[in-house]
Amino acid sequence: GKLAGLDLDQLREGARVEKNQEKKNPTDFALWKLTPTGVRRQMEWDSPWGKGFPGWHIECTAMGVKYLGRQIDIHTGGMDHIPVHHTNEIAQSEGAFGADVVRFWLHNEFVMVDGEKMSKSKGNFYTLDDIVKRGLNPLAVRYFFLQAHYRTPMNFTWEGVEAGQSGYDRLLDKIGELQAKTKNLKIKTKNHNLKLKTEKAQELSKAFLVAINDDLNTAKGLAILWDLLRDQKITDEDKLALALDFDQVLGLKLDQVKAPAAVEIPAEVQRLVSAREQARQNKDFARSDDLRLQIQAAGFEVKDTPAGQVVREA
Ligand SMILES: [Zn+2]
Repeated sequence: GKLAGLDLDQLREGARVEKNQEKKNPTDFALWKLTPTGVRRQMEWDSPWGKGFPGWHIECTAMGVKYLGRQIDIHTGGMDHIPVHHTNEIAQSEGAFGADVVRFWLHNEFVMVDGEKMSKSKGNFYTLDDIVKRGLNPLAVRYFFLQAHYRTPMNFTWEGVEAGQSGYDRLLDKIGELQAKTKNLKIKTKNHNLKLKTEKAQELSKAFLVAINDDLNTAKGLAILWDLLRDQKITDEDKLALALDFDQVLGLKLDQVKAPAAVEIPAEVQRLVSAREQARQNKDFARSDDLRLQIQAAGFEVKDTPAGQVVREA
């Protein structure tokens, strides 16, 4: 019980489950479950103890050993697995292979959906397909999750994820701008050996490392990324290099962003944009929306930014 800090004397047998005659100790758990005689299971295997199937704790250990070896650096999981499942994984792995089978355990808090616990019976959970069907980028969901620490409960709402999408879009725009300004600077970030020229960039580089090393404070990491991108003094080269370096941790695929190709905006579209500017000044939003649709029909999209309308190819 070292992971969960359990006191075995406190674990009262029969508190929740009926006393199991096959258990010598109330905290015993099954490594192998035998198929009862006369029964054929869909999934069953031969073993020295008879036909059956592995207990679910041993499944995890077996997979871990096969794919990751006898020692796992970081084992993740939901916090609900601390008292039983992961405690049992430790018991059986250390019994088989010795101490410190897992070097670090990271347990995340639950994701709630619209303030409620996700459950199959309620049907209140979404898959990545649902996200895509809604026109959202799965990476926007990652951006959304990175905004909170993994050990704080997260509430999944469509509004939240849509806000994540617009934040992520702004980030991609910013990176695209930097790629344009630096002419798609080729930066090798894999070695983390950046030669940053601006002192402020060096500071932010250290601050990011401190935040991530502080139990994966991704929320702070994202904030530092934005500090970097908004900074007035840091050179574009440093900004881009460092943003891509941070992304080795964040995993937002910023390295795949290219500078937007320079596009000629046809005179006709330009005319619609100017008319829309006029309509907005007159607070004629119906006309402004109508013009937006005409611009879209011409194959362009218009965005309203604090600096005015931005037009680009749709
Ligand atoms: Zn497991």
